[in-house]
Amino acid sequence: MLDDYKSKQPIVYKILKNAIINDKCSHAYLFETNGFTESFDFIMSFIKSLLCPNKYLNNNNCNNCHQCEVIKSGNFPEIKIINPDGLWIKKEQLQELQNEFNKKAIIGTKKVYIINHADKLNKSSANSILKFLEEPDNNIVAILITDNIYEVLETIRSRCQIIGLKSDIIKYEENSTSLENIKKTLCLEKSQDENIDIKITKVIDFVNFYEEKKLDTILYFNKIWNDYIKTKEELQEAFEIIILYYKDILNKKMSREIKLFKDNKENIEKITSKNTVEEICNKINIFMEFKQKIKYNANTNLLMDKLIITLEGGI
Ligand SMILES: [Zn+2]
Repeated sequence: MLDDYKSKQPIVYKILKNAIINDKCSHAYLFETNGFTESFDFIMSFIKSLLCPNKYLNNNNCNNCHQCEVIKSGNFPEIKIINPDGLWIKKEQLQELQNEFNKKAIIGTKKVYIINHADKLNKSSANSILKFLEEPDNNIVAILITDNIYEVLETIRSRCQIIGLKSDIIKYEENSTSLENIKKTLCLEKSQDENIDIKITKVIDFVNFYEEKKLDTILYFNKIWNDYIKTKEELQEAFEIIILYYKDILNKKMSREIKLFKDNKENIEKITSKNTVEEICNKINIFMEFKQKIKYNANTNLLMDKLIITLEGGI
């Protein structure tokens, strides 16, 4: 969902969300990725909001309709993705696309084409698509993607609305603490929450406790973090921290450098010795899956019980 990027891409999120709500979307976008690791997912969630028939129902967010599911599976007939064929994007690829897009949409009304590596459009292939970009059919949206807009031909650039994504490559200071690193990664440095440090510590304690006590953790939730992690937002944040922690545990297990949790080396080593690589990956997946479930669950206590049981291999 586009809303998942509210904090990661605040400016771009606002621009695109406004365009969708006011039905003022451009007919051609050029996305500059700037190394943002979730670029493609982000762009796909924007396309979903463009195409979904239910987008106005749920605060302009779909709650996974059939159409969104098909888009997610990559088999949606009204989306075409063009990748460079060899060194360049070829004229023939674009001609084929235009022929196909002259037909009416089978599902819904809009069609979207994505040109990956738009910097690989050379003069001749670019020429063949200029007209298509210039005389937009209301029902066709072009999404061009590049790592560097300055490598995209000016004739193309000038016909698109340029959307620069915010980079998420973070530079950590050499002697920074775990707390500083986590806050930097999750953009919590300017958090107004005076308990933020203690919350992060409680979350790390929770994982250490769980790795020790396993299923018994269910009995001790109150003691471990219930005083600090109360709202759904806090729980989501907690899960993000846990996922980062397990990623560092995986780093250690694979003899890579511990990236964020440098002060927690002892605990990380303990946990690494008890888990295989597969087990760690499995836990990361379970936490990611449950993080998605938080918003739809009224009873977070039950959800946490279920989480621990799932982690322990139950249903
Ligand atoms: Zn939908």
